[in-house]
Amino acid sequence: MTDAADISAQRANGEARRASWDEYFMAIARVIATRATCDRKHVGAVIVRDRTILSTGYNGSIRGTPHCDDAGHMMEDGHCVRTIHAEINAVIQAAKNGTAIEGAAIYVTASPCWNCFKAIANAGLRRVVFGEFYRDDRIFDVARALDIELVHLADATMPEAR
Ligand SMILES: [Zn+2]
Ligand SMILES: [Zn+2]
Repeated sequence: MTDAADISAQRANGEARRASWDEYFMAIARVIATRATCDRKHVGAVIVRDRTILSTGYNGSIRGTPHCDDAGHMMEDGHCVRTIHAEINAVIQAAKNGTAIEGAAIYVTASPCWNCFKAIANAGLRRVVFGEFYRDDRIFDVARALDIELVHLADATMPEAR
């Protein structure tokens, strides 16, 4: 995986092109994911408008309650439901701070699950850039119908040494 440190090291060596804005914000989302507290999946999200970060989130327990790492997962239908997902936490952080996010983009290391996609759509986010595909392909048709841009930014498109 190419991360921000790799990009800057390659740049210092004159080996890599400059990161695009999409790559830049996705690299930040990957760093944010390192704070996640459910090891079934570490996900990070960044909400951006006009190349400015408005809010961030990672998947974690309800504030003040134990983490999966300490208390174990809370399994339901094969998924851990202890955590609030990264995308929802980024929307919540914006709400707590009174930051308007309508019309913004969200960068997320894994494609939104159905619940997160619904929240993203109703929060007025217009562009979703995701790293790996996660689990729900209903988002593709609905995004198209709502004119929300969905972009898959795979690791392979990150700057590489040449
Ligand atoms: Zn968990
Ligand atoms: Zn989700």
